[in-house]
Amino acid sequence: MNGLLGSDTNKPYTGRFAPSPTGPLHLGSLVAALASWLDARAWALNHPGSRSRWLVRIEDVDQPRCVPGTGQLILRQLADCGLVSDETPVWQSHRGALYQAALEQLLASGAAYPCGCSRKDVEKALAVAGIVRPRHGELIYPGTCRSGLKGKRPRAWRLATPTGPTIWSDRRLGVQQQDVSAQVGDFVLKRADGFFAYQLAVVVDDAGQDITHIVRGEDLADNTPRQILLQRALKLPTPQYLHTPLVLGADGDKLSKQNGAQALDTSEPLVALNAAATVLGLPPVSGTQADALQAWVKAWAERYR
Ligand code: GLU
Repeated sequence: MNGLLGSDTNKPYTGRFAPSPTGPLHLGSLVAALASWLDARAWALNHPGSRSRWLVRIEDVDQPRCVPGTGQLILRQLADCGLVSDETPVWQSHRGALYQAALEQLLASGAAYPCGCSRKDVEKALAVAGIVRPRHGELIYPGTCRSGLKGKRPRAWRLATPTGPTIWSDRRLGVQQQDVSAQVGDFVLKRADGFFAYQLAVVVDDAGQDITHIVRGEDLADNTPRQILLQRALKLPTPQYLHTPLVLGADGDKLSKQNGAQALDTSEPLVALNAAATVLGLPPVSGTQADALQAWVKAWAERYR
């Protein structure tokens, strides 16, 4: 049950904000950035004499989706809001060797396997088995190549997901569970286009940076069980998780570029910060930006004592 208990409480607190540079920061992403920053600073307030770290990691692993220059723009927008990484930000595009080493470790232990199926092959196998279960439009891989490639050329690499529920406790959402093998299937670690998947990169980096507390948007909550399974397969610790409320777009979906998210105007950072704080259930603060951040750290420290 190590996934339920979360991280080793003796380790110094390290949190992070890990944006994908597919577009500038918008209100939804500022909510996650502010919450993770507040959580790190509140932890230090609740543990006098201890230091906490808050890191920014630019998740540009999915290069085809990244927009050049956006990583630097996000860092500037964060800095305008007073949110500055305690260490030089890490960029995932420079860390391919670490992801490859983790994949090789998983292959050597039998936890991962190469897959030669195209999307068409997967659709066909699912139709033959009479399974029609799209999940977020994704096909649940039926495990065809688990028993070997049978002469096919490897295209992607997948995790052999164990059956049964993965249970974890979220600091805001409470106890959660998901049977990854039934609801997601053997998910991709390295894609057919040669890029590493977010799931593998995020797990390798969270462990590599000694992240103890992950605070991010609720849209990522159902990725957590996949990440816990990967942590277990790689013999890495499981951090504690807190998933924050989402800002919704006009269509009721999570605010994103696709449904009209505006790039955050950080010319008046306190306006942007107050909007993000409201989503987190924190009272609006006037005065200086520093006053506001300090007041919210105190409120957060009370809430998550
Ligand atoms: N890079 C991911 C995103 O922007 C977030 C990753 C995470 O916080 O785990 O959606």
